[in-house]
Amino acid sequence: MPGCGSVYIVGAGPGDPELITVKGLRLIEQADVVVYDRLVPRELLDHTKPGAELVYAGKKPGAHAMTQEEINRLLLKKACEGKTVVRLHGGDPYVFGRGEEECIYLRSHGVECEVVPGVTSAIAGAAYAGIPVTSRGLASSFAVATGKEAPGKPRRMVRYADIMKSVDTLVVLMGVGTLEKIVEEMLEGGIDPDLPVAVVENASTPRQRVVTGRLRDIAEKARRAGIQPPAVIVFGPTVKLRERLWKLS
Ligand code: SAH
Repeated sequence: MPGCGSVYIVGAGPGDPELITVKGLRLIEQADVVVYDRLVPRELLDHTKPGAELVYAGKKPGAHAMTQEEINRLLLKKACEGKTVVRLHGGDPYVFGRGEEECIYLRSHGVECEVVPGVTSAIAGAAYAGIPVTSRGLASSFAVATGKEAPGKPRRMVRYADIMKSVDTLVVLMGVGTLEKIVEEMLEGGIDPDLPVAVVENASTPRQRVVTGRLRDIAEKARRAGIQPPAVIVFGPTVKLRERLWKLS
């Protein structure tokens, strides 16, 4: 739309503020408005120029600061005031971030929108615990799934046991609250109870904690450790490599 500014849908990385891309950081420095998520490292906001407007659009389970529709409209409004807008997402904007919905909405209203990918917690969260998602001879495929499907969906789309039978490594995001159910479903579906599993809380931050176990005991171990979101759950044989890679990574 003539007169409107651009919106950049930027991935902030998993938690360590240094894990943003050079391009993402440059755009933060230039932005007139930054609309940011709950999981975005706050240190990144120190890079905004004086007078830049910072808007928190975080969503917490059960407590939304703004609805997605409100975020979409805000991005459009700010862009159409002629401003350069950065929409900052935790991790990568297109991995369970709804960045694509924002971009589609803006484009449908004639506003320029560009995505700047970020380092996703799905891969970096595992890596920071010393777990590669692939490894020669051990894992040649991986998948990323949500532990929590959108409420009101007519039928389940994620079948954990089926996925686990098809790929070597499965990373589940947003799965802390449903870990027990996921494990139960995998065991009922015939997955080996000895499958190595790791839960990585607050990955890549000074508050990172890791719990490891087997499919049969991981839910209990995570519960006893009091694991809270955000955490990634990694299922697969490469979890064993942690013994040799952790602290070196
Ligand atoms: N777009 C994000 C994911 C958003 S969904 C990305 O690419 O990383 C939010 C989920 O991401 C959380 O529930 C958690 O499962 C995971 N997550 C994000 N940051 C994390 C972190 N620092 N440590 C562990 N998990 C994290």
